[in-house]
Amino acid sequence: MSKLKYDVIVIGAGIVGCMVARTLARYKLNILLIEKETDVGMGASSANTAIVHAGYDTVPGSLKAAMNVAGNRLWDSLSQELGFAFERRGDYVVAVGEEEAPLLAELWRRGRQNGVLGMAMISGEEMRRREPRISPAVSGALWASTGGICDPFGAVIAEAENAVQNGVTISLQTRFESFAMEGQRILGVETNRGTFACRWAVNAAGLNADEVMHQAGVRPEFAIAPRKGEYYVLDRGEIQINNVLFPVPTEVSKGIMVTTTVHGNAVVGPNAQEVSDKEDRSVTRAGLDEIWQGAQKLIPSLQHRHVIAVFAGLRPAGNARCETPGVDYAHDFVIEIPQAVRGLVNLGGIESPGLTAAPAIAERVVELLRDAGEKLDPKRKWNPVRHPRPRFRDLSPKQQQQLIETNPRYGRIVCRCETVTEGEIVAEIHAPIPARTYDAIKRRTWLGTGRCQGGFDTPRVVEILARELGIPQLEVTKKGPGSEFLVRGTKDVEESGAAD
Ligand SMILES: Cc1cc2nc3c(=O)[nH]c(=O)nc-3n(C[C@H](O)[C@H](O)[C@H](O)COP(=O)(O)OP(=O)(O)OC[C@H]3O[C@@H](n4cnc5c(N)ncnc54)[C@H](O)[C@@H]3O)c2cc1C
Repeated sequence: MSKLKYDVIVIGAGIVGCMVARTLARYKLNILLIEKETDVGMGASSANTAIVHAGYDTVPGSLKAAMNVAGNRLWDSLSQELGFAFERRGDYVVAVGEEEAPLLAELWRRGRQNGVLGMAMISGEEMRRREPRISPAVSGALWASTGGICDPFGAVIAEAENAVQNGVTISLQTRFESFAMEGQRILGVETNRGTFACRWAVNAAGLNADEVMHQAGVRPEFAIAPRKGEYYVLDRGEIQINNVLFPVPTEVSKGIMVTTTVHGNAVVGPNAQEVSDKEDRSVTRAGLDEIWQGAQKLIPSLQHRHVIAVFAGLRPAGNARCETPGVDYAHDFVIEIPQAVRGLVNLGGIESPGLTAAPAIAERVVELLRDAGEKLDPKRKWNPVRHPRPRFRDLSPKQQQQLIETNPRYGRIVCRCETVTEGEIVAEIHAPIPARTYDAIKRRTWLGTGRCQGGFDTPRVVEILARELGIPQLEVTKKGPGSEFLVRGTKDVEESGAAD
């Protein structure tokens, strides 16, 4: 057991774990955030639709609904303090054909019950005027002005950096294995890097939250069934839609939608497929066909030739019944300090709208700790502001010139599609949470996400990573051990005669 006893150890550095760590860093607490991967935000938080949901489709009375609406309201101040992209553009749920129109009324009713402001019903004709490329069969739409889109990678990284700025320690490649317990009390967290003593452990392990809570003997019946969502990404500027377009939702998901991202690409998806493997983020032909058909129902003129990438994410869907009397709902969030064990803050089943809800979940964790008698003394020097590093392509020509004069590396373009410079890459490698892999740089700078999908920049990024980290190029990875780009040097092959 570590000599140092942490007040709080947060398990899992997704949007929820990072947000909890950042929020708790307001108080005089010694906090450790552990993550099994090589970077923060590599789980569900890295592969989702990036919508800050208004909250009209969650079941009224559920924790999900309460956290969605409360979380949504916190995104403006959060993005301003932390310097990541967020646009409150509003969104539409679109009914196609007369038979779908009555479903909008149900969403409207739910939205009113959940306290969603800024909703309006609009006619099919008005919808076609606002989105000229939409299906002519549209019969009406629900407009929610509080919906938004964000950069989910930027949000996680900014939260984690701000947490570190305020004293949180982050330990990557540190896998939770079990709890050190005395009777029903948690004394510490056992990991592949040893046991760390703590007074509180926060379970924010996403897809593995069920396994973590079972290690503490909590909710043995709780299980996470990963639900996959697949996506197509379209080239920037190739589809002109003004807003976020949802179809009417299904029982299990919000449906296959068409949206633009904060980076200007269009994204279509996701579907919803139960899978048994918590690591299975593969895309399938059948799944891609399903999302294409779903998206064409909203925008019939979509064209395959504009597709530049595909990806999939896994929703950590849980089976916790809503505890509000009279509300019959079987897939609510778990946000609790369980009675059965001392020292655990238990978060589980944080599927969509978990991204939206994360800031509210973090505030709820503070309330739970306070209710449990934890003395939360505010730090005098807590700093909520994190300054973003410059993004060359967003600067004016004059600002670009000034940046190059201070550091000539900003004059060398490494990613031509997205205009990312060597200066930006080097800054990310030496940032408060260093980017040590290709994908870590990609999530931070958007490099390699354009039409060539890294074809031009990868060799240069491998060189830069090796130089800056002081490691051989052979050790540079895409996303951690096992994903090295190179297997051997060309000269090694020639010298051993293996080239023949
Ligand atoms: C297809 C899809 C679409 C979605 N769309 C939206 C949307 O548009 N809007 C929205 O609000 N929400 C959306 N969501 C939901 C949202 O992405 C999630 O609710 C949110 O990202 C969950 O965050 P998290 O931090 O709980 O989980 P994660 O991001 O998965 O983080 C959990 C972390 O715990 C780590 N971990 C796990 N086990 C261990 C261990 N043993 N030791 C150490 N670390 C561990 C993982 O590596 C991971 O980094 C979507 C999800 C998916 C999959």
